[in-house]
Amino acid sequence: MTVWQEDAARDLVLNAGERFALLTRGEGSYLWDDQGKRHLDFLGGIAVTSLGHAHPVFVDAISKQAATLAHVSNYFATPPQLELAARLKRLAGAGIDGRVYFSNSGAEANEAAFKLARLHGGAERPRIIALENAFHGRTMGSLAITAKAAMRAPFEPMPGGVEHIPATIEALEAALDDRVAAVFVEPIQGEAGVVELPEGYLAAARSLTLKHGALLIVDEIQTGAGRTGSWFGFNHEGITPDAITLAKGIGGGFPIGALVTFGAASSLFTPGSHGSTFGGNPLGTAVANAVLGEIESEGLVENAAARGAQLRTVIEGIGSPLVSGVRGRGLLIGVALTAPVAGMVVTAAQKRGLIVNAANPDTVRIAPALNIGDAEIEEFQTLFATALADVRVELAASETEKANV
Ligand SMILES: *Cc1c(COP(=O)(O)O)cnc(C)c1O
Repeated sequence: MTVWQEDAARDLVLNAGERFALLTRGEGSYLWDDQGKRHLDFLGGIAVTSLGHAHPVFVDAISKQAATLAHVSNYFATPPQLELAARLKRLAGAGIDGRVYFSNSGAEANEAAFKLARLHGGAERPRIIALENAFHGRTMGSLAITAKAAMRAPFEPMPGGVEHIPATIEALEAALDDRVAAVFVEPIQGEAGVVELPEGYLAAARSLTLKHGALLIVDEIQTGAGRTGSWFGFNHEGITPDAITLAKGIGGGFPIGALVTFGAASSLFTPGSHGSTFGGNPLGTAVANAVLGEIESEGLVENAAARGAQLRTVIEGIGSPLVSGVRGRGLLIGVALTAPVAGMVVTAAQKRGLIVNAANPDTVRIAPALNIGDAEIEEFQTLFATALADVRVELAASETEKANV
């Protein structure tokens, strides 16, 4: 073990596996480690660094705001906070009635959404519906709506009333009644392996929740901020939800989250019903304004759509027998593998200088910066093809070894 690996093994909480590298610097879609090795970043800190690393717009916003005003508490309003609230309402199409609550992470945005659901439901509507394989965060409320039993089990009892149903329109139709407070959905289940909802699901969920008086809450934490080639995942089905949650890409690397409410759902929170000391601070909101402003002015939502299509062609074009298909939309891509070797592919890619991750054992997730161009895609193609070939060699070698035993 190197010194930093020993430090990490001794001092960091044991909630993650061994770290791949000690990263010291980033620029655009590249990262450098302590050995001076350059890595092509096609994970973007898990769909976070929308503009890549150390983008001048990000650096400028953070520096200027830090030198002006970083924090004041929610007893006060600040210009960046008001600007970001108005911007998010406009981008989300939340209309004049919309409201924005700021948090510091995705899980916290979902905690707020969970409380919103309870406020809406009251005693008459104790049920909350979420989907099988859903991921909504690791804090107690967001964990309760997360589906994976293994993540929840050690921390039970969970906040009650949550049911996980299969992601089919029929299952939703069967589950909904007038005792449901809210339905939580991700437009694409990122953590589950970049799994899309069935065609028409969001539209059906919208009409069914309206019929039964339940809130439709869309978790856009991974899919929002242009990632899927539209501003938000729900735009692909042209619906108006009651609330969306945001984080990851909106801050481009600065920790910030938000709950945007639409229409009547906007009057559920009242003074004293929720809060966060850091939430909506001028530093975070100034950065998010700058990041979203750059995405808008540089046409990065359109770039995400175009580059996503290009990447899909590139991945299919590699023609590796290890790849069975490509899922996702825009620059949220899941490369489906024919065997549970995603971990091996990620390690092989890492050795070659490409950062991607294993969303699950048979899916490699790709979520690069929204401003990638031909150069990054060409380099990705070479590195990813090489990594897939490396894994085939490794697999063949272990087969031979087995045969020789
Ligand atoms: C990452 C993620 C979360 C949790 O966000 P954190 O900032 O890690 O708390 C919730 N929902 C979805 C869909 C996510 O991708």
